[in-house]
Amino acid sequence: MENVTLLGATGSVGIQTVDVIRQHRHRFSLFAIAFGNNVEKALPIIQEFQPKFVVVSSKESKQDLELRLTVKPKILVGQAGMEEVSTHPDVDIVVNAVLGSIGLVPTLSAIRARKKIAFANKETLVTAGHLVNKEAEKYGVELLPIDSEHAAIHQCLKGESLKEVNRIIITASGGSFRDKTREELQHVTLEQALKHPNWSMGAKITIDSATMMNKGLEVIEAHWLFKLPYEQLDVVLHKESVIHSMVEFNDLSVMAQLGTPDMRGPIQYALSYPHRLELQNAKRLDLVEIGKLHFEKMNFERFPCLKMAYDAGRAGGSMPTVLNAANEEAVQLFLNGQISFLKIEDFIQKALDEHTIINDPDLTTIVEVDQQTRKQVKSYLSF
Ligand code: NDP
Ligand code: MG
Repeated sequence: MENVTLLGATGSVGIQTVDVIRQHRHRFSLFAIAFGNNVEKALPIIQEFQPKFVVVSSKESKQDLELRLTVKPKILVGQAGMEEVSTHPDVDIVVNAVLGSIGLVPTLSAIRARKKIAFANKETLVTAGHLVNKEAEKYGVELLPIDSEHAAIHQCLKGESLKEVNRIIITASGGSFRDKTREELQHVTLEQALKHPNWSMGAKITIDSATMMNKGLEVIEAHWLFKLPYEQLDVVLHKESVIHSMVEFNDLSVMAQLGTPDMRGPIQYALSYPHRLELQNAKRLDLVEIGKLHFEKMNFERFPCLKMAYDAGRAGGSMPTVLNAANEEAVQLFLNGQISFLKIEDFIQKALDEHTIINDPDLTTIVEVDQQTRKQVKSYLSF
């Protein structure tokens, strides 16, 4: 039996992780969960799995939980709580499915405690991939990707040497506005942006998919996970999301991983790696029914966020931290109805332009740059 700490249990990835654990109760036990303040979503999970620890982000949510729970887990608050449940000696696997760079410190702690880490939280790798990799190498910890593209690449690379890889080809669905022109994007609404054609995900990543920043973040995520330079990381538009990504080797042979768009596949593979388990209530991929797959070259002018991400990734240092923090903040402003869709990329570009790069930033610098960028992006509202 493996004990699992699940950070971000009430989110889209979190709820699907709970489903995977439910399907394999003989194999995994939900030891601890962490979430923000969504007590309504957390209550049934706590009642069903009776984790030993629950971490919330505010004292109010702690009080609310205490009043309403019939079972009595130990309830902790905030980042210190997330660190405690990520390093507890009884924990075998930490699933990091929180949203945003808030996942960085618990990740570093889990690495130092030599936990197996299943990783969905791409913002953490974008903001400080060099720190995460340095610690992972030092402590001999492998990060097991949950993001579907990276899980696909991880599967294609199984048993292969990175030295024999020519390039990685990450597929992009194109998000909710794939077929719209730049002009048409001026008038799109939040409601339209939240309708992803293939995947059902949390609000922030759905907007990131529409701006194509999600693919940009994934390129940087791939750079750190697979330790390849940006020249060897390509993106291709593939609207069906059937091929989750590909690897081209030096003999020009290409390996691809295919599947239906169901995050429980990659979540389960990260949990059971290097083995595979059955996945119940899932749809089998039917290529005959699908009939055709389409591929298109990526257009950086149509999707400037992807270019910003490549540029920030190549620049390195504190630039990806600015990219990530500006994006998190701008997307939040869009979700709040405070800015229009195209303002998201304007705000990110402005934050990048105004930043003077700091090379090899340490954790304190990363946190400072992150906070400073968020403040700055909010200040653009008054222009
Ligand atoms: P959601 O918004 O659905 O969920 C986010 C989770 O993080 C919630 O449990 C939320 O709690 C929690 N959280 C937010 N802020 C805090 C905080 N301050 N302290 C503790 N917990 C917090 O996001 P997704 O599940 O969509 O995405 C999670 C991560 O996985 C992201 O990095 C995303 O890019 C990545 N990912 C997601 C995919 C998907 O299919 N959804 C696919 C691939 C990657 P609360 O509910 O209380 O706010
Ligand atoms: Mg993805």
